[in-house]
Amino acid sequence: MRIYLSPPDVGEVERAFMNEAFDGGWIAPAGPDLAAFESDVAALTGWPGAVALSSGTAALHLALLSVGVQPGDDVLVSSFTFSASANAVRYCGAEPVFIDSESSSWNMSPALLADELAECRRRNRLPAAVMVVDLYGQCADFDPIMAACRELGIPVVEDSAEALGATYHGRPAGALADVGVFSFNGNKIITTSGGGMLVTPSVEVAERVRYLSTQARQPAPHYEHTEVGYNYRLSNLLAALGRGQFSRLPELVERRRQINSLYRELLADVCSFMPVPGWSGWNGWLTCVQFADGSQPTIVREALLAEGIESRPLWKPMHQQPAFAGCRNRVDGTSGSVFGRGLCLPSGSALSDGEVAEVAALVRRPRVR
Ligand SMILES: *Cc1c(COP(=O)(O)O)cnc(C)c1O
Repeated sequence: MRIYLSPPDVGEVERAFMNEAFDGGWIAPAGPDLAAFESDVAALTGWPGAVALSSGTAALHLALLSVGVQPGDDVLVSSFTFSASANAVRYCGAEPVFIDSESSSWNMSPALLADELAECRRRNRLPAAVMVVDLYGQCADFDPIMAACRELGIPVVEDSAEALGATYHGRPAGALADVGVFSFNGNKIITTSGGGMLVTPSVEVAERVRYLSTQARQPAPHYEHTEVGYNYRLSNLLAALGRGQFSRLPELVERRRQINSLYRELLADVCSFMPVPGWSGWNGWLTCVQFADGSQPTIVREALLAEGIESRPLWKPMHQQPAFAGCRNRVDGTSGSVFGRGLCLPSGSALSDGEVAEVAALVRRPRVR
């Protein structure tokens, strides 16, 4: 492969942070970079609580536990997402119920959520939580979603794995609900090669999550455990990498958005793009296009592949996944249709303008199967 979809963009800044940790002897899992990385991300969200974890998926798991999700509960989840969102619900022994997207943002439809909550009320069985995903670096329409959930006292988890640096009405992604989650996987907007973070407005919740993430060890000289914990903590060395990446976040967001603007200029007459509502300050994570007919994504993807260029289908909705067959859903066909006509184009922040132009030229080239 010559051009990847969204490869890590790291260099001397990150190397300096990692060398400092290395030279300071902070190779053991714990160390000062963890607290520093957490306070960087906490400051961005405006919340005091942040816990660095081994993955976004681990953060989602602990986020659901932190709002009280238990075995047998229902959790309403955006259907249009990566499987990690729904998997975390299952890790809790709970059942996901999938809510479809609105076409104006591709995120959870506030109207379908309201319909489902009304149905839950009629059946006298409220969900234990709602998990709302910020897809492709764009926030969901949180005002109506939070109003509906607040009215019923249902906690909301924001899966902002893809949306670090994005905003909603100027407010930071990750801090729009009761607890937020970021991912630093290798293909996200910043990376620790693998990692995640949970953010919370409550210092007590952060303490509890930190405790659960380090095997739930009681304060005693020997190893004393009163409940089952997890080994979900990020290592100090990776936190140092995260600090380096975080220091460049504004630059990385700016570059992703530039790349998107370039694609929009070059492909305006060939395909459409993910809609960006007025309230959305998206972070540009992945440029996602829509073709008029459903045969194009595969044809274009294979043509790019033949030139050593990686592109990807959009997330296949969870209500269409065999792993979640039989789960309840409230679906109106929106995410299925966007999935069927969509493709993610190479969007890494290290991509040059020339490479974007090369990809666009290949997407433009008329072809039939
Ligand atoms: C990447 C991603 C996750 C999982 O993050 P990992 O760090 O890979 O575990 C969860 N939800 C969404 C929407 C994601 O894109």
